[in-house]
Amino acid sequence: DLLVVGSANADLVVAVERRPAAGETVLGSDLATHPGGKGANQAVAAARLGAATGLLARVGDDAHGRLLLDTQRACGVDTRGVLIGAAPTGVALITVDPSGDNSIVVSPGANARLTPDDVRAAGELMAAAKVVSLQLEIPLETVAEAVTTAGRAGAKVVLNPSPPAPLPVEVLAACDLLVVNEHEARYLLRDAPAAAEGTPEAWAKALLARGPRSVVVTLGAAGALAATGDGTAVRIPSPRVRAVDTTGAGDAFTGALAWRWGAGDELTEAVRFAVRVGATAVTRPGAQQSYPTAAEVAAL
Ligand code: ADP
Repeated sequence: DLLVVGSANADLVVAVERRPAAGETVLGSDLATHPGGKGANQAVAAARLGAATGLLARVGDDAHGRLLLDTQRACGVDTRGVLIGAAPTGVALITVDPSGDNSIVVSPGANARLTPDDVRAAGELMAAAKVVSLQLEIPLETVAEAVTTAGRAGAKVVLNPSPPAPLPVEVLAACDLLVVNEHEARYLLRDAPAAAEGTPEAWAKALLARGPRSVVVTLGAAGALAATGDGTAVRIPSPRVRAVDTTGAGDAFTGALAWRWGAGDELTEAVRFAVRVGATAVTRPGAQQSYPTAAEVAAL
């Protein structure tokens, strides 16, 4: 039902007392290695909820690539679209200080080698999908190709423009659903300061004017806003939870939303489900390992 086209990274995490300055060395904790990357996260989030999910991505022929593939398969993700080789698996080098703040260096590695040709070669997977979900941790021309191919095949297109990058107007216009957090909304509206300084409702309205059929703005602990082209904008609060780690919450939200909305739920209904998934994910440490099953979401 859902095909995620995106990144797969190994997250290499070290806790430090403080970040090193230029030329300095600090000692940190033991290294923790976790499967991550926005594409891989979204696929795991949807599959754990019970969605028939596939991933189109590229990893290296190395231990990190095998970790990512194993995790996807263990969650039931169809990995026929995961290509292997061309560069080392993408990694995120993450240091966390005692206040919980992150510093992150990403080496895209194999993610940067996922090409438009790879998308064209996956025509069968694209044609079978009801909904295709994309982010921006792979080359923009690959995203553009996937948006075009998915649209032609009749699949709904969901885009989370993260990390923010200059997006061709025709890619934005071709999206059925744009999912942004506050930071991404302001970035996309950087040429429209009046809208960017307004409310989430104003961001959604200004973004809808650029062509996507629907827009969802995530608002952290406050939940999300769902807006459609007919002018309706509804705020959906998040359940109140004790947040311990918000890493990957947006990916859990978007994976869940893309699945339910692609399966035919009303947008507001799908967002109501997705905020519960996001809220559950923040109550547990980590990204993929914090993602709930459908039963856990129902129990929240
Ligand atoms: P991102 O992680 O991309 O910045 P948000 O912070 O907006 O995105 O979070 C995405 C979703 O995760 C929210 O819409 C909400 O459902 C859930 N979420 C995030 N933080 C919290 C929190 N502190 N309490 C409850 N839900 C949260």
